[in-house]
Amino acid sequence: MTELRFDERVAVVTGAGHGLGRQHALELAARGAKVVVNDLGGDVHGGGASSGPAQEVVDEITKNGGQAVADAGNVATEEGAQGIVQSALDAFGKVDIVVNNAGILRDRSVKNMSAAEFDAVIAVHLRGSFLVARAAWSHLRDQGYGRVVNTSSPSGLFGNFGQANYSAAKMGLVGLTKTLALEGAKYGVKVNAIAPVAYTRMTEDLFPPEFAGKLGVELVTPLVAWLAHESVDVTGETYSVGGGRIARVFVAEGPGFAKKDGLTIEDVRDNWQQINAETPYIVPKNIGEQTSATFEALK
Ligand code: NAD
Repeated sequence: MTELRFDERVAVVTGAGHGLGRQHALELAARGAKVVVNDLGGDVHGGGASSGPAQEVVDEITKNGGQAVADAGNVATEEGAQGIVQSALDAFGKVDIVVNNAGILRDRSVKNMSAAEFDAVIAVHLRGSFLVARAAWSHLRDQGYGRVVNTSSPSGLFGNFGQANYSAAKMGLVGLTKTLALEGAKYGVKVNAIAPVAYTRMTEDLFPPEFAGKLGVELVTPLVAWLAHESVDVTGETYSVGGGRIARVFVAEGPGFAKKDGLTIEDVRDNWQQINAETPYIVPKNIGEQTSATFEALK
């Protein structure tokens, strides 16, 4: 069985000072990648900043014989995002892999959530992933190769009480992933997303402590590494991953109900069951495939 390696590849991992990102960075470096370990070094709510966490992970990689540089930039700002990619260019001459992982929480029910709390979470997860991917994009396109892995969440895919900001950002990342995949297709750039579950400082108050051993970050990283590898053959996909289980999550459209000669509210009422039917469903790869289903029904 051949080992999957990343020799000659340069990876950027955002939010790699703790938790999942740290594990992604360690694993990619252990398999030969040169890694930019980015982390703003703040707390779980986005307060504060420190260059310590990124540097500690770099020290660990270097001690293990790998190559890495630290970057304490903020993914949520254009300068920060550009600086992260520039760190890769300065230290290693190129960028091949972007793992958008940085994240914060500002949980509150929608009744009590301020606009600032909504914006702060969107800024790091969604805007930050866009900004870092955009900063790398022209380099990936020009070299005809790239891998981007975005970090969504089951909270965004399926909803979670108290996380209007976070779930909106995380489902937004699914849309971003699909569109980047379409735009990168002819340049050899593959873009996919994960929706992880792992025991980290972000979730330690959520899961009972006995789950720590069962939901280790090392049970998520293999999927990230696979999606970052040159062998991966999918793009625009999202996978839930945690505790050693991986499953594709897809946006599907049911068979629906169609009427050619005008639609009334009573038509909607009378066909509500068929409108809500789940099978047989289609999984459109892009908006064209979805609209052609509508046109097909009107034939
Ligand atoms: P974590 O808090 O351990 O790691 C997040 C890292 O991002 C931290 O090191 C933090 O300093 C860094 N960061 C925050 N804001 C930043 C910014 N503006 N710029 C650069 N770095 C920044 O949490 P984690 O659980 O490892 O989370 C990693 C990612 O996985 C996040 O996007 C999170 O939303 C997502 N996620 C985690 C879980 C889980 O179960 N742990 C579930 C779903 C999604």
